[in-house]
Amino acid sequence: MTLWADLLASGVKPHTKKQCKATWWEGGPKACVVHRPSDHFMREWPLVCRTSRLLERVCAHGVGHPDPDSLAYFLWRDPETELGFHGCDGCCTPGACPVCSLDH
Ligand SMILES: [Zn+2]
Ligand SMILES: [Zn+2]
Ligand SMILES: [Zn+2]
Ligand SMILES: [Zn+2]
Repeated sequence: MTLWADLLASGVKPHTKKQCKATWWEGGPKACVVHRPSDHFMREWPLVCRTSRLLERVCAHGVGHPDPDSLAYFLWRDPETELGFHGCDGCCTPGACPVCSLDH
């Protein structure tokens, strides 16, 4: 998918399939942004990678929201993590857009 190509071009190195499997074996989340994205409504949105390595999805208003599969991984690593906190305009809640009440 072109979104990944863009990220790779900018120097982001995703984990390998091997590392991904190791996570499952350790009991981590099965879904993975790179290899097995879950069927969430933000999966077609552009991706950005934070310095924390959390992947965010950018909504139609240019606001970044943590990708659920990426965040699940960090929460599994550290249930106390505050990575999930973000300047949210409400778009990572499914349903009509809270900003302009359109479906997008
Ligand atoms: Zn993976
Ligand atoms: Zn938005
Ligand atoms: Zn949000
Ligand atoms: Zn909107």
